[in-house]
Amino acid sequence: MTPVDVFAGRAVALFGLGGSGLATARALAAGGAAVACWDDGDKGRDAARAAGLTVEDLAAADWARFDALILSPGVPLTHPVPHWTVEKAKAAGVEIIGDVELYCRQRAKAAPDAPFVAITGTNGKSTTTALIAHLLREAGRDVQLGGNIGTAILSLEPPAAGRVHVVECSSFQIDLAPSLAPSVGVLINVTPDHLDRHGTMENYAAIKERLIAGSDTAVVGTDDDYCKAVAERRAAAGGTLVRVSVEHDEATGLVREGTGLVWRCDGTRKPAADLAGIGTLRGVHNAQNAAMAIAAVSALGLDAETIRSGLATFPGLAHRMESVGRVGRALAVNDSKATNADATEKALASFPSGLHWIVGGVAKEGGIAPLAPYFDRIERAYLIGKSSDAFAATLDGRVPYERSETLERALESAIAAAQAAGADEPVVLLSPACASYDQFPNFEVRGARFRDLVTARPDFSPIRKD
Ligand code: ADP
Repeated sequence: MTPVDVFAGRAVALFGLGGSGLATARALAAGGAAVACWDDGDKGRDAARAAGLTVEDLAAADWARFDALILSPGVPLTHPVPHWTVEKAKAAGVEIIGDVELYCRQRAKAAPDAPFVAITGTNGKSTTTALIAHLLREAGRDVQLGGNIGTAILSLEPPAAGRVHVVECSSFQIDLAPSLAPSVGVLINVTPDHLDRHGTMENYAAIKERLIAGSDTAVVGTDDDYCKAVAERRAAAGGTLVRVSVEHDEATGLVREGTGLVWRCDGTRKPAADLAGIGTLRGVHNAQNAAMAIAAVSALGLDAETIRSGLATFPGLAHRMESVGRVGRALAVNDSKATNADATEKALASFPSGLHWIVGGVAKEGGIAPLAPYFDRIERAYLIGKSSDAFAATLDGRVPYERSETLERALESAIAAAQAAGADEPVVLLSPACASYDQFPNFEVRGARFRDLVTARPDFSPIRKD
C-alpha cells in the first residue's frame, strides 16, 4: 500500500466504495487523514465498515469541513450530469480529485524522481501497460504495475527511487488528476468512445492529451488525427516527444516496416525489433502497442537487445487474442474480450486465412456487417447466443455457418471441421463481437469456459515457448 499523507490531519470526503475506492480510503487513513466514506450501495458501505473505515452519509454532512472530495473514476464528474457529491463539493468550494492525483501528490512530496510511466489511449491500454511492465521486469527493474489495470494505484508499493510505477490511466482518472506529470507519458490513440461521459470528442481528446502534456518524455501514437494534432502541439511546446506510427512514415520516430519496428532519425534507420513469430503480439494493432512500449522503455534506458529478448517472452493478456494452445492441427484462440465488431475486426485482420470463427451473444448496433471485408478469411462460422438469427442473415450466401447455440457445441464442431480443413494452420477463434450476458456473467467467464474446454481435450497440446 502507498500511505498518502498529503491530507494528514485534515478531513476529506470519499465517494465510491468499489475496489479502488476502498484502497484509496485505506491509503488516506494510513497517512493520517480523517476520511468520511460513502457509497449509494450497501455493499460498499459494509465493506468499508469491515475495513475499519468511517462511513458517513455525505448527503447529510457539513461540507465546509472537507478539504477535498475523492471521487471514484466511475462516478460522473460532468456528463451526463454531475453526481450529487460533485454539486455539493462545488457549492462548498471543495476540490474534486481521484486516486491517481493522490499518488502524484505523494510522489511529488516523497520521491519526485521516482520513475513513473502513465499510459492511456482509447484502445490497447492494458496490452501496452502489461508489455511495458514485462519489458522492465525482464530487464531486472523493480516494477509496480496497476491503475486501471488490475491493482488499484494506491494498493501498490510507495514510489521510491529506482522503483518504476507503470500505471494505466482511464480518461476518468486523468480528468480527476490535475497534477499528473509522469516521467514518461504514453498516448496510444484516440477514437470515439465514452462520449456519454465526456460530452464531445474534443473534450475527450483534450483529457487524454493532459496525460502527455505534463510528462518529461511524451510518447504519442500518430496514426489518428487527434493524436497527430496532440504531437504537433507537444512539438510546438518544446518538450521531449517520440512519435510512433504503424500506418505511415515519420521522419523521426518509431515506425513499422512489415513485421519490423524501426527507429527513424532524419534519414537514418535503425531496426528496433521484429515481431514475426511473437504470437502474443499478432496484428497491426499489437504492433502499435509494442511500438509504444518499446519507445517508453527506451526512454527509461533499456537497450535494444534487452527489449528484443523481453518481447519474445511476453505472455500476453487473457481473453485478448490469447493463444490457448493447439487442438490437433488447429490453434485455439480466446478473444472473448472482443465484445463489439471493432475489436473482432482486429482479430480477423490478424489471421490471413483458415478461420473457424465462433461468434455471437448480445449484438451491438450494426452487428457483424462491418466485418464483411474479412469474410473471405473465414472457412466456417459457428453461431452462439441471442444474435444467431441476425448474424445468420448477414452471413447467408457469403460464409458457410452453422447454428451451434452453445459455446460447447460450437467448439466441438469447429475443432472437428478444422482438423478436416485444408488450411496449413487452421485457427479456432472465439471472437464473439458481442456482449456475453445472454449466456455468461461476463466476458472473463466466457473466455475461461473456452479455455477450460480446449485444455480438457485429449488432443490438446500447449504452445511451446522456446
Ligand atoms: P484497453 O485496455 O484499452 O481496453 P486492451 O489492451 O485490453 O485495451 O485491448 C482490448 C481490445 O482492443 C483488444 O482485444 C483488441 O481488439 C483492441 N486493441 C488492442 N490494442 C489496440 C490498438 N492499439 N488499436 C486498436 N485496437 C486495439
